[in-house]
Amino acid sequence: MIHRTGRVLLIYTGGTIGMGINPKNGLLEPLDFKELVERMPELKEIPAGVDVHQFPQPIDSSDMNPRLWARIVEILVGHYDRYDGFVILHGTDTMAFTASALSFMLENLTKPVILTGSQLPITRLRTDGRENLITSIEIAAAHYPDGRPRVPEVCIYFSGKLLRGNRSTKMNSEGFNAFDSFNFPHLADAGVNIVFHDELILKPDYTRPMTPHFAMDTGVIVFTLFPGIEEDTVRYLLDSPHLRAIVMRTYGSGNAPQLPWLIKALSEATARGIVVINITQCAAGPVEMARYSGGFMLHSAGVTSGFDGTVECAIAKLMHLLAHYNDAKEIRRLMNLALCGEISPSIK
Ligand code: ASP
Repeated sequence: MIHRTGRVLLIYTGGTIGMGINPKNGLLEPLDFKELVERMPELKEIPAGVDVHQFPQPIDSSDMNPRLWARIVEILVGHYDRYDGFVILHGTDTMAFTASALSFMLENLTKPVILTGSQLPITRLRTDGRENLITSIEIAAAHYPDGRPRVPEVCIYFSGKLLRGNRSTKMNSEGFNAFDSFNFPHLADAGVNIVFHDELILKPDYTRPMTPHFAMDTGVIVFTLFPGIEEDTVRYLLDSPHLRAIVMRTYGSGNAPQLPWLIKALSEATARGIVVINITQCAAGPVEMARYSGGFMLHSAGVTSGFDGTVECAIAKLMHLLAHYNDAKEIRRLMNLALCGEISPSIK
């Protein structure tokens, strides 16, 4: 039987959900979320007590960075035993990056960490924030009769869908349906009832504690292939002094133009220990480097498959692994393993 505290902690980092219009300049600015929550009577109906922890300076999530991820991990660690689950209110712009990063920074997570936000501020009449917030709290508090949480994972809840955080992508800057996980099914769907797809949800080892990680190495870049890409540009990028890893966004199932200089430049980079991860530019479907010669050449140049993972997740996972390992071979090996459900490595 797992001990439950009956409480959920709401961590407000910023984002549209908690913003209001500054009457002086008409711009959206962060409000005091503690006050807002006190003015939401519907929260009292949720069968879990809710406390609020607010960033001293709430941010637009465009300003999110690895230092602030470590700060979120510190807050979670500091409150871990006192809460059954956590809801993180976060701007939508970089929410998929933060969710991916936290999934690696919170090893063997035994409690729900649900990120949510909204497209319209919670104070607006047509807001999507109320439903997103209330359902996220319900999901963070949901548990089995023996006390085990229903969703001990880092997730994004948005517009009726519970998504694995490290599989999510922001796909719409306007519609309420802002997120999806194109290569992995939803963990739950919220309609009249919240229907959990339990067979898909990660099962932690409850006999071991959650292990937090704080370090991230930012020697990473994303580089997108396009017809007409120039050798000089690619060489300049590959020679950057602090670069340790590249997420290369390729065509279709992981293909690249068969340009001898490109293959040579990539082979030289991988031989000197740069980790190059192949992620497709397509929103859905995996990389299969053995399918076309344009993909197989990348494989021969030492490029590592990113399988069906997202760019956001590849970046976060690389930052985490680079901070913990020096050996490029070991980093490539771990990039090909699912550490917390982020890829499906059975696809070749
Ligand atoms: N720019 C805002 C942010 O990401 C957008 C949002 O919250 O949806 O913080």
